[in-house]
Amino acid sequence: MLSQTITWQDELKTALRSNEELEAFFETSFAKTDYPIFIPTQLASRIKQRGIDSALAKQFLPHADENNKGGMLDPIGDHAYSPTKQIVHRYHNRLLFFPTSVCPVQCRYCFRKNELHHNDELFKPDFEGVRTYLSAHPEVDEVIFSGGDPLMLSNEKLEKCFDEFSKLKVPMLRLHTRMPVIMPSRLDQDFVALIKKAATQFELITIVIHLNHVDEITDEFKTVMKELRLLPIQWLSQSVLLKGVNDNVMTLKDLFLGLVKMGIKPYYLHHPDQVRGGMHFWLDIEDGRKLFAALRNYIPGHALPEYVIDIPGGHGKTPLLNPEGFEFNGQLLNKHGELVSYFLN
Ligand code: SF4
Repeated sequence: MLSQTITWQDELKTALRSNEELEAFFETSFAKTDYPIFIPTQLASRIKQRGIDSALAKQFLPHADENNKGGMLDPIGDHAYSPTKQIVHRYHNRLLFFPTSVCPVQCRYCFRKNELHHNDELFKPDFEGVRTYLSAHPEVDEVIFSGGDPLMLSNEKLEKCFDEFSKLKVPMLRLHTRMPVIMPSRLDQDFVALIKKAATQFELITIVIHLNHVDEITDEFKTVMKELRLLPIQWLSQSVLLKGVNDNVMTLKDLFLGLVKMGIKPYYLHHPDQVRGGMHFWLDIEDGRKLFAALRNYIPGHALPEYVIDIPGGHGKTPLLNPEGFEFNGQLLNKHGELVSYFLN
């Protein structure tokens, strides 16, 4: 565990929040965009070390291309499946729960960038609404905390949420978070105690960490994971394939092998969503499929995530490399990325 010189709450207070603060810190100018800025200073220092054209920088620094008006406001169609402000129920037995709309950083590619970040709020969790909904939907056996980033809640608030879902007899709980890589200090001893308690309340706890590039695997992150990987929970990762950031076989190889060495199983590689303000990160599906096919030559199956795309309009995720997700025309990609016939002539 890290020795705590600065708390995660202090790190949040000193984050860079405007073009003026960015320009003073990086000593260069940045495009003005419609989207907010929020970069904790320790992350800003790492970006400065790597350079403002680095993969790390492109994920978090504003860019003039964000002002392009292509793309969709709600690319994965959350709204059609949202019975209350804090719930999305798209998949039969899994329920998304949003305890907050706030994140520890503003990712420039975020698929929720047009709806989340203009309301700077921690929600008051609507347990009554959740209770009513779950009683009408006994098929739900996993609640997934998303947002925003659920680890923006204090340990006390998270404990209250966990207690509520435990009372509702939900067997599995999952947290989707970017916090461990942005601010490893968030995974403090109180958080460890909280997760140990939660592991006795639920049959399975899963934490899915979001990161996209091996440069996000810092020594601090590795240090906290040495202890946290011993907790009786499942650690997974999810990443977004991003043009100009990680659309390279060796970059993805280093990321996924780096994760398995830390006890984190790569879970999903998402094709980027067609989100307004983030279309400069988008790449062709065919390019993504070739890249993923080549990746299989370099990493073992247990380190390979599932490559998926969220079909616009709320159709949900579908595997991208799997021919069942497409009209099967008798051809498959071989390990060189070439289409070859499956049937003998
Ligand atoms: S942490 Fe996740 S929800 Fe928050 S801005 Fe980044 S991608 Fe979006």
